[in-house]
Amino acid sequence: MVKIAKKGKKKFYITTAIDYVNAKPHLGHAYEKILADIIARWHRFIDEDVFFLTGTDENAQKNEQAAKKAGIETKKFVDKNAQLFVQLCKKLNISNDDFIRTTEERHIKASQLIFKKLFDKGEIYKGHYEGLYCYGCENYITEKDLVDGKCSMHDKEPEWIKEEAYFFKMSKYTKKIIKFLEKKNSVLPEGRRKEMFNRVKEEGLKDLCVSRSNLNWGVKVPFDEKHRIYVWIDALSNYVTALGYPSDKKFKKFWPADCHLIGKDINWFHSVIWPAILIASDIEPPKTVFVHGFVNIKGSKMSKSTGLVVDPIELVEKYGLDSVRYFFARNIPFGYDGDFSYESLIERYNGELADKLGNLVSRVVGLAEKYLKSKIKKKKSDEKLFKNLKLDLIKKQMENYEINKALTTIFEFIDFCNNYIQEKKPWELTKTNMEEFENIIYNSLDAIRIIALLLHAFIPNASDRILTQLNLKTEKTIDNCKPGLLKETKLNKKEILFAKIEDGK
Ligand SMILES: [Zn+2]
Repeated sequence: MVKIAKKGKKKFYITTAIDYVNAKPHLGHAYEKILADIIARWHRFIDEDVFFLTGTDENAQKNEQAAKKAGIETKKFVDKNAQLFVQLCKKLNISNDDFIRTTEERHIKASQLIFKKLFDKGEIYKGHYEGLYCYGCENYITEKDLVDGKCSMHDKEPEWIKEEAYFFKMSKYTKKIIKFLEKKNSVLPEGRRKEMFNRVKEEGLKDLCVSRSNLNWGVKVPFDEKHRIYVWIDALSNYVTALGYPSDKKFKKFWPADCHLIGKDINWFHSVIWPAILIASDIEPPKTVFVHGFVNIKGSKMSKSTGLVVDPIELVEKYGLDSVRYFFARNIPFGYDGDFSYESLIERYNGELADKLGNLVSRVVGLAEKYLKSKIKKKKSDEKLFKNLKLDLIKKQMENYEINKALTTIFEFIDFCNNYIQEKKPWELTKTNMEEFENIIYNSLDAIRIIALLLHAFIPNASDRILTQLNLKTEKTIDNCKPGLLKETKLNKKEILFAKIEDGK
């Protein structure tokens, strides 16, 4: 049968990992959400139909342990902590379309359905499992993962556990997963794909334990209530249950995911285990798993024990949201580890947001205020100026998830605009050639308009404030980034976009 291409917009489905709620959000959570938000906003900007999902992983045994420690009921504990993540999204101006909590009925039902489907198909069987178990990893770990007898990730001694359990026949899917990982963009960056590919090729896949017994918390195995569904089929399935799997319109429209944005510590789960579960369930695997790096603090891993913790909410309150979003997007090469420090955040803010972007806007709006009473007439576009606007390159970079490079390209244009003003010296023309003065101001403002539109995905608040100064209620789409679309207008009063940060931390 010939498939007829659907009319309308291209769809784009992006997810973050779902966060554990056993502790409050840290900088790493904020980093991932900001990146996903930039990508989601950008895809709306290029006129795609976007669905952006984030949420919380609440069925982990860790939550039960943490609740016990806090002396409250597990459900109350997760309800309370989940709200911290909802609030974080608000604080960061995250444009998620849905927020899934794995304790919600919609998730419980659909994840049970997947489990049952796999069991009925003979993809899940009952057996016994024993081994070293790390509660931090929520996983059995092998001797080679240990350093001085402790889990190297969690610095904790694992426990020896034996239990009756259900197993997913993952070994059966070795070839199919190799095939999945052979696809060029299945996992990005390329190095992360190779890592997974080589590991599966060398080790093959083993059957996977997908249930735990004798727990009081978590989603029950629907046909055997002594068992709870273990993290793989429970947590990972949020990406389809949030879409209303199996029957909802949304699922049919948005699946497969275009981008699962995750941290490098959970790459195996998303690039190997998850696609295997999906293939076994007759569901298409995701198009791309994008693996971002970790945010270190002064070169070291964030950790409570060393005191290297930065509260993202406090950071936003102190330095403003745009500076935090800008810093993450610009300073850390997407897909690699990066470093956070107050010094570099302030340097980026003062040197780029204030001195480059803020300066350009305030200079041009100021000149228009002083010499034109803020009244702007439509003029002819200056081709020489706009040939430096590299829209196609920016698009390409965003398509390749090169967020920091795209920002660099936008800022090169900002530099060019600042030089344009510097070289043309329009203030010297006010007595001799007002026509030319107005040409320069019009074109500079038109450039600022386009810059504000392009920056909307990255720093939405500043983008809105710039457009307000230009007195524009333009739709934020890439189609509006063509030069010459600025019409006659009366600017609003000049305001400082980015006041310089004088003190250090
Ligand atoms: Zn561990």
